Amino acid sequence: MERTYIAQTLHQVGKSVKIFGRIQTLRDHGKVWFIDIADETAVVQAVSRQKFTVNPQDILEIEGVVKKRPENLVNKDIKTGEIEIEVKSLRIISKSQTSPIPLEGDGRDIDEDLRLKYRYLDLRRPRLKNNLKLRHKMLIFMRQFLVSRGFIEIETPILTKATPEGARDFVVPSRLQPGKFYALPQSPQQYKQLLMVADFEKYFQIARCFRDEDPRSDRAYGEFSQLDIEMAYVTQEDILTITEQLFKEITEKVFKKKVYKFPFPRITHDEAIRKYGADKFDLRTEKSPDVLAFAFVVDFPLFEKTEEQAISPSHHPFTAPKEEDIELLAKNPMKVRSYQHDLVCNGLEVGGGSIRISDPNIQRKIFKILGHKDKEIEEKFGHLLTAFKYGVPPHGGIAPGIERLLMVATGEENTREVTAFPVSGSGQTSVMDAPSEIDEEVLKEYKLKKL
Ligand code: ASP
Repeated sequence: MERTYIAQTLHQVGKSVKIFGRIQTLRDHGKVWFIDIADETAVVQAVSRQKFTVNPQDILEIEGVVKKRPENLVNKDIKTGEIEIEVKSLRIISKSQTSPIPLEGDGRDIDEDLRLKYRYLDLRRPRLKNNLKLRHKMLIFMRQFLVSRGFIEIETPILTKATPEGARDFVVPSRLQPGKFYALPQSPQQYKQLLMVADFEKYFQIARCFRDEDPRSDRAYGEFSQLDIEMAYVTQEDILTITEQLFKEITEKVFKKKVYKFPFPRITHDEAIRKYGADKFDLRTEKSPDVLAFAFVVDFPLFEKTEEQAISPSHHPFTAPKEEDIELLAKNPMKVRSYQHDLVCNGLEVGGGSIRISDPNIQRKIFKILGHKDKEIEEKFGHLLTAFKYGVPPHGGIAPGIERLLMVATGEENTREVTAFPVSGSGQTSVMDAPSEIDEEVLKEYKLKKL
């Protein structure tokens, strides 16, 4: 007999079916046994007059007959509540030990390290399942939206050279060139700009980004995903327009929520600081959970000062200064405004981008203001400056953060709740124990240890 998905059993009254699934609960009523069994599509009640030695979370195959329940026993809370399966035969496919973490409830009160150690059990929780399903729907929607507008998805390397986004790099030692290292990308920023030089006018990628943030910072340590977008021959307004259309549609069609204001308000950095005291803010007057209040912040200063008073980019060093401020670069760089744009939503920064510098001379000037010496500029960014010598269309983009958006949409408090296998707050991976020691032999092979 072929497998019937549990949701389909509803349409098979009077017929014999074979179902597979996992035991959710068991109820012993003396003469009869009730087994709630679920597959990915639904849960159903199976009834047996015979007892079996089974436990919750065991995986079973059940053959039985679908019976309509009497009116007074219909369970309105479940899809299959009008029927039940009368068990004819039952086979245990795989037994489950008792779960080390409770699987009922939302799991928020369980020690997080334990949840991550047994993430494959934790993920059985409907809350997390729904978060990941929403993530899937959002990614599919993003792809369809962009592809239908002529964007093409291009993957860029993970083993690469540092691209500064303001964090430390994760590094990977090279065995073939001992003493040298790859860096994992903090973002595909330089690659997407190189793709513009290569005349891909509309690029996107669901990109993994790696940032070795300080645990003290409020930014996430480890890896996360961005919807990375870049376009040639565009103005800042073109980028904002397509972004707001995408997020309006995602909010309505995927999150089934409303946007607070459309078009999204554009607020200058100055005004944001004056009005809200920060460059991210919540426009809502009431904290209505079904409303997403998006806004763009524009006209950022090009530079900011670090705690040590060094000049650093507000966004990254590839962000273009506003034309009218270019002459201030030499005299008063801190006064220069840029073409950076941030997307904020309900008090969180959910994305950022900019129009880029496409003039190699200005790019060089910016690197110098940032304190890089000529030799260092050549070593770190020579490839980009060289590429720009072959003709580069004006370009710009944005990179909304996937997890941040999902946090806003689900009301979750941290990005780990919308990530299948996140690293913990202290940098430990889920389930697999990394970072971990590595064999002496491997260290020697990489020349990280003396032979
Ligand atoms: N690479 C930037 C970031 O990761 C986004 C962008 O400028 O498009 O924030």
